Amino acid sequence: MSVHVERITSHVGDVGGIPIQRALPNKGRRLIGAWCFADHAGPATLPPQQRMNVGPHPHTGLSTFSWMIEGEILHRDSLGSEQVLRAGQVNLMTAGHGISHSEESLTDRIHLAQLWIALPDAERERAPSFQHFPDLPRCSAGGFEGTVLVGDWAGHRSPVPSFTPLLGVDLAASGPADAVLALDTRFEHGFMLLEGEVEIAPAGHEAVETVAPGTLLYVGPGCASVELRGAAASRLLLLGGEPWAEPPLLWWNFVGREPAEMTVWAQDWAREDGGRFGVVAGYPGPRLAVPPVPALRRPG
Ligand code: MN
Repeated sequence: MSVHVERITSHVGDVGGIPIQRALPNKGRRLIGAWCFADHAGPATLPPQQRMNVGPHPHTGLSTFSWMIEGEILHRDSLGSEQVLRAGQVNLMTAGHGISHSEESLTDRIHLAQLWIALPDAERERAPSFQHFPDLPRCSAGGFEGTVLVGDWAGHRSPVPSFTPLLGVDLAASGPADAVLALDTRFEHGFMLLEGEVEIAPAGHEAVETVAPGTLLYVGPGCASVELRGAAASRLLLLGGEPWAEPPLLWWNFVGREPAEMTVWAQDWAREDGGRFGVVAGYPGPRLAVPPVPALRRPG
């Protein structure tokens, strides 16, 4: 049986002053399970005046998922949360109906993955929440050190909750590594390279794909296992989830369903009290202004 494989090239950008590579959303590939946004920020060393600084901005209809690899970031939100995120830790902010937050880098060195998880219909109007996860389960396979960020992996379960079946694993090797990993055949998967170079051989796919940072290898449902081979130090994120029938609508920091929702949310954020998104206390700077809402079409 052959599986569907795509090479996805990230676009390069800048978030709050640091270089990022954005794998999702991409032309032709908007989701991997509920993962709807995937930024790889850094690795970079920036002087204090150039550190990442993202002023208060709103979110709705999603969870933001921050996985810190190097450096420290201070998170503040409209619920009153104030939390330093350190290497090896996850922050999960579920916006639901609406929340706002800011992010400030506290270190010159920065390396993280910033991901969004779309909320299903039944959960997207839920009350906002913020959770910090300082310890995540670890396991090793063939020279790769795995950290289970979300979901079940190799007999370990991440404490990070999700509202749809989802997988996130960080796989890091300090030298040569070769591992065969079992995959859930109901899931679609993405292999997002963060460092080094890895040969990826999905079962049922004829070619071996060599992947480096800036490329995400998409592997469709029905793939039972994959072999990963690295000749030197490498790091990648394995993302997975049950495919969605219809992609959500993404615009600015909002995940919705209908174009008209975006106008309502933009008007809310333009209010002095932030409307449903509230106010972030303590951030030393202005909040981000909402851009004009463009003509949007329902996805699908
Ligand atoms: Mn944000």
